[in-house]
Amino acid sequence: MDLERFHRRALHHRRRLRAFLQKLGEVVPEDFQSLVDETDAAVWQAIDCTTCAHCCKAMTPTYRADDLRRIARHFRMSVPDFKTKWLTQNEENGDWVNRETPCSFLRPDDRCGIYEIRPADCAGFPHHNKKPFDEWSDTFIGNVDKCPATFELVLRLKKAVEAGWDFPET
Ligand code: SF4
Ligand code: SF4
Repeated sequence: MDLERFHRRALHHRRRLRAFLQKLGEVVPEDFQSLVDETDAAVWQAIDCTTCAHCCKAMTPTYRADDLRRIARHFRMSVPDFKTKWLTQNEENGDWVNRETPCSFLRPDDRCGIYEIRPADCAGFPHHNKKPFDEWSDTFIGNVDKCPATFELVLRLKKAVEAGWDFPET
């Protein structure tokens, strides 16, 4: 994954891609979910997360209570000790998140060191399979310049929608 190229492209396109996602909140093209599913499948043919790991380097998952119990048990630690060692609490919403960026569990080979027991938030990222897609626009607006797969998906959706539907150009 050429992350420098991704950053350049994301910087160039992100305003228009965010405007497109914002419009999805108002106008949803007919049969949009099928287009999303087909386009997403094509995106994953082209993108390999194991050569990227940008989400683990630049973002943090939110740890739910069951994540905390499962991962602390793996390290034979209590949940409070696990939190003290690796996490911090978001002051605004109280969420437990990584204290360090990149994630402390990211290995030098860019693989997750706790892959089998990783937080549900990591397992679900980048959330392209959430349905209906348009109701998750805010998530994708936030991630379109952070995740190359989300960037590619939204770029392709924007082109397809503007070419095939009566959809206001952004
Ligand atoms: S737990 Fe694993 S998948 Fe999640 S951010 Fe850390 S390294 Fe990445
Ligand atoms: S989910 Fe996105 S940011 Fe994370 S590794 Fe895959 S392509 Fe990269």
